[in-house]
Amino acid sequence: MGDAFIIDGCHYAGEIERKLKDFLNSHKIETLRLDVILVGDHKPSEIYVRRKSEACHRVGIQVETHKLPETIQEQQLLEHIERLNKASETNGILVQLPLPAHISKQKVQMAIEPLKDVDGFHVENIGKHVSEMKDGLFPCTPQGCLYLINQIYPDISGMDALVIGRSLVVGMPMSHTLLQADATVTTAHIKTKNLSDLCKRADIIVSAAGHPNLVRGKDVKEGVVVIDVGINRVEAPDNMKAKITGDVNFEEVSQKAKAISPVPGGVGPMTIAFLLVNCLKAYCLQHGDVDFDDFKF
Ligand code: NAD
Repeated sequence: MGDAFIIDGCHYAGEIERKLKDFLNSHKIETLRLDVILVGDHKPSEIYVRRKSEACHRVGIQVETHKLPETIQEQQLLEHIERLNKASETNGILVQLPLPAHISKQKVQMAIEPLKDVDGFHVENIGKHVSEMKDGLFPCTPQGCLYLINQIYPDISGMDALVIGRSLVVGMPMSHTLLQADATVTTAHIKTKNLSDLCKRADIIVSAAGHPNLVRGKDVKEGVVVIDVGINRVEAPDNMKAKITGDVNFEEVSQKAKAISPVPGGVGPMTIAFLLVNCLKAYCLQHGDVDFDDFKF
């Protein structure tokens, strides 16, 4: 093949943002608000939080970032979350990961009020996702990946999908999302022995391992659709900037793929777009007067 369609996440994220902005305007939703907690000085986290905040501003969501010191005690952080849980003006709460080692990620995720949990990491929301209950908040990245896949295949029923990675943030909810869209799903992980064979069988590959060059041209079949979630910092020779790459060898795989999402500019912007969508959904779940199903994206 050699002429793979490049799935432009910036383009689709822009479309979602425009629809969201119109929806907020037409429904006169002026007070939708996200509170973001950023602990410590982790540089990539600062960049992600800034991008999320800028996206909120673009669509008309109020956003406040609470920058807390690296040394904050777990209990103080939990109390901060509790104040936001109780604050009627706060519709969404997001705690940027990773957290310092002395703080339990699980306790923090469980502390967030499920109706405000716009990352969808609370067990109540995970349970609702797996049980296919619609009134939950579900992880942003898998929603963004399915949206990109649906640009190529509106119906993936019966197709062979391979998800590489099984984290609670991406891999696991991605597999459930694809299953719910009636794909036949295989989940691979660090202990999987025959990854190359599994890749060769797949019509759709979503790679979320955090491992550069994990998927090579020789591993995939002609016409595969590839969604690359990985974000890997690859050091460059002296005097050159480090490069961000995905898990997939783009040059090789794009020679055989029907469509492929690039890194950067693929899944990243979609994750942010679906964070905004989740903020609207949180608002709708909290205010019975606006129906989330009226928002078409
Ligand atoms: P994680 O480290 O929690 O999980 C990685 C998963 O990949 C694990 O289940 C592990 O078993 C599997 N894995 C690792 N190496 C493997 C290998 N060689 N073969 C097969 N499986 C392997 O990471 P995560 O939070 O799930 O994130 C995964 C990647 O996606 C990271 O690079 C992360 O930066 C990126 N990410 C991107 C976005 C985005 O919006 N683009 C969002 C979240 C995560």
